[in-house]
Amino acid sequence: MRLTGMVERQFKRTLKRAVDLETMRTISSDALMGMSKDDYQIIRRLATRARLDRRPRYVCGLCGHAVYAPREGRTGQPYWKHHPGAPEDCQWWTGTPSGVDAVSGRQFHGAQESPLHAKIKNIVGELLTADRRTKPESVVVDAYLITEGGRRRPDVRAVYNEVSLAVEVQLATTQIPIIIQREDFYDSEAYRLLWLTWNFEPPAATGRLLSSFEDIFYSHNKNLFSIDDETIQLSRQRNEVILRAFWVREDVWHSKVVNLHELNWLSSGRAFAVAPEPLWHDDFLARWRAATGDHGTRWPERGVLLTELVSKLSLAGSDNRALEEADIDALINCLLSLLDGHPVGSRQRKLVEVLNTFLNVERRHRLARLIRRFAELTGRKEELETKSVRDKIATALKTVQDDPQSLAGRIAVALFPETFASGRTVASR
Ligand SMILES: [Zn+2]
Repeated sequence: MRLTGMVERQFKRTLKRAVDLETMRTISSDALMGMSKDDYQIIRRLATRARLDRRPRYVCGLCGHAVYAPREGRTGQPYWKHHPGAPEDCQWWTGTPSGVDAVSGRQFHGAQESPLHAKIKNIVGELLTADRRTKPESVVVDAYLITEGGRRRPDVRAVYNEVSLAVEVQLATTQIPIIIQREDFYDSEAYRLLWLTWNFEPPAATGRLLSSFEDIFYSHNKNLFSIDDETIQLSRQRNEVILRAFWVREDVWHSKVVNLHELNWLSSGRAFAVAPEPLWHDDFLARWRAATGDHGTRWPERGVLLTELVSKLSLAGSDNRALEEADIDALINCLLSLLDGHPVGSRQRKLVEVLNTFLNVERRHRLARLIRRFAELTGRKEELETKSVRDKIATALKTVQDDPQSLAGRIAVALFPETFASGRTVASR
């Protein structure tokens, strides 16, 4: 009974790539199967000897735990298989071998750091030490950093480019609480933090990123940093730390080789190599703001931007003139003022003045509910409670109000989606 279950598990999952810890070269399961008998025999013997010596030689390319290369009973094909003790949440987990394996395998217990993890941090330490931007003697591999804020054991730390840097190796199994705790700790200690993965392979177009990689992808402003045998070689040739950076453009993964010193560092202490594509509405508002001064939004830029709004939102039957007549430019500047907390596109000093002026115009009365909602969402309670504003809103609300499907409603939601989304969260609580 049990055997059946095991066999099923074995064939459902494939351990796709193993890493040779001596050379850091990757050997795929296809390469293993395609090997000559002689070459396979070498791997088989090295893996066995390594196991007897309790010094892993081949490890899983995903979780980093020790693997070996038995022949599959039915077909006689060699395949990679985890030694017992590998974490069962490895995506390539291949089931529990039976008998003596279970006993000798306890040394590679899942909770422990994997041999690949240990090897990578030593390599990173070596590469940092060789880099002239690293302060001499500052590289520390795997030692506690004890401060008033607590203690953590970064995989590698160094003073690089005159700034304290911690490098944490992230294989496939680190959980989000650990990621957040480490980020908080390094933030509080004014350390820069670089999450590093091994030999990252982007998911296929339809596939999802493993959660453990997705989390550090967001930490790094939607970049992911990885090293592999090629970048290690490059680093050793140049005596500089070379990484491979990954990012996404229009749902397609891209990558390039970057030097550690070329990275852009965020105030959070995390780096990115390639900035994520700006969202359309952020980009639009940035251009709108650039065209906006004390006297409102300039022509002809205003016309160009309003035309873009018409086409982007597929406002059929509308054009930039229609948007002007609907006072959309004044609406955008009023919403920006509420968002920023001070007047945008006018010479006025106070938000209250902006609201009063806006609502003074009768044809804008139908926008009062929208303005009030936006003011609430952006925390402008004080201004809303000012008597002059309260009176104007009360008067304006006697007019039929624009709803979210109206021209103004659609534009507001399209340009300020985060603000309106925050309202949904509050409302649903
Ligand atoms: Zn694994």
